[in-house]
Amino acid sequence: MTHSLQALDRAYHLHPFTDFKALGEEGSRLIERAEGVYIFDAEGNRILDGMAGLWCVNLGYGREELVTAAAEQMRQLPYYNTFFKTTHPPAVKLAEKLCALAPEHLNHVFFTGSGSEANDTVLRMVRRYWALEGRPEKQWVIGRENGYHGSTVAGMSLGGMAPMHDQGGPGVPGITHVRQPYWFGEGRDQDPEAFGRQCAAALETKIQELGEARVAAFIAEPVQGAGGAIMPPESYWPAVKAVLAKYDILLVVDEVICGFGRLGEWFGSVHFDLAPDLMPIAKGLSSGYLPIGGVLVGDRVADTLIEEGGEFFHGFTYSGHPVCAAVALKNLELMETEGVVERVRDELGPYLARRWATLGDHPLVGEARSLGLMGALELIDPATGERFDKALAAGNLCRDISFRHGLVMRSVGDTMIIAPPLVITCEQIDDLVTLAREALDETARCLAASVAD
Ligand code: PMP
Repeated sequence: MTHSLQALDRAYHLHPFTDFKALGEEGSRLIERAEGVYIFDAEGNRILDGMAGLWCVNLGYGREELVTAAAEQMRQLPYYNTFFKTTHPPAVKLAEKLCALAPEHLNHVFFTGSGSEANDTVLRMVRRYWALEGRPEKQWVIGRENGYHGSTVAGMSLGGMAPMHDQGGPGVPGITHVRQPYWFGEGRDQDPEAFGRQCAAALETKIQELGEARVAAFIAEPVQGAGGAIMPPESYWPAVKAVLAKYDILLVVDEVICGFGRLGEWFGSVHFDLAPDLMPIAKGLSSGYLPIGGVLVGDRVADTLIEEGGEFFHGFTYSGHPVCAAVALKNLELMETEGVVERVRDELGPYLARRWATLGDHPLVGEARSLGLMGALELIDPATGERFDKALAAGNLCRDISFRHGLVMRSVGDTMIIAPPLVITCEQIDDLVTLAREALDETARCLAASVAD
């Protein structure tokens, strides 16, 4: 059965972010079921999901309440749209709940089917906002190198992933990028706080180059996720906020990963005190059980769009899909009643920080960092203290070994990252750290052997 499914997968299925030919040769791993923080493959191996799927299964797998919410809503009203002056109870209740959870000045939400669609929506909203304000020349949006905002054309354009830009043809015009606050990768020879201020200064320089009258918004993740779980130096966000305020530029904080508890607050913006004008959301909103995203819109932008805008020609068939919305609402209720976010802030985040930091003494690890339930290890060659030769693909090697040892860790180049479900226990964090160390040990042995060859 496993082999025939793998053969069919090879024959018919083009996977996302995948080298199709290489996967065809190696074959894909078949995941059949999951429970709590564990996934199970077709061979019956139990694997600790250190990535919560794709940073989304915040409540963990197997939550019957979410299954029931979906089934009940499917029976009641499996689909209706929110176009043309109609609505339905799940969309209304979810909108109200989200606005109650979000920082005070965010009081409206526009629903989408994904994080990428949320960022497409952001781009259209900020340009529309400035046009309505009588400043149509304010069109440029500044993102960051190595930022990730999705895989649609606008999402890819807002993001600063060089390999995506190289393949994507020309992106959306009027979007540019500034350097990222990645201290380990780009500023290790400097004081981290001075480096953080320098990155914010690079934003100011870019605004001056473009002309402040032409810049609409700056978009960034509170902590870069797909870029490598990059926590900015403390100096970074306050300095960025000051620059944006000085030039009257909107702040868009992409909460697709950091939202819904990942950093120990409902939103990363709360952790860093960002007060954004717009917040794209997705993933943890439904704990990944069904696809749903949205944009939380601050009063400044919402007031103009509502009062001055007329019809906003934008929306998706599945904007506010009733079944997805019902599941998201139940997910948020469960997170609230079970105190999931507070536990990440007060117990699990600090516990992971202590345990994860112990990996810093491993010869392969140049830095072990974490915030909330997000962590990263920077792999280095113990012989030089520098990065390994790219051709060794040390990160991918470590990821594959880790999987075989029973832990999903993701590799971004030679950065290993984790973002486990928020319902993980301290004991399971201990297991996660033990498995990560085993993976590092075996990776070190393999790399030593391949260098000796
Ligand atoms: N923004 C961020 C910060 C993300 O991490 C992602 C997905 N990894 C997206 C947007 C895109 O979300 P989706 O894959 O749901 O389109």
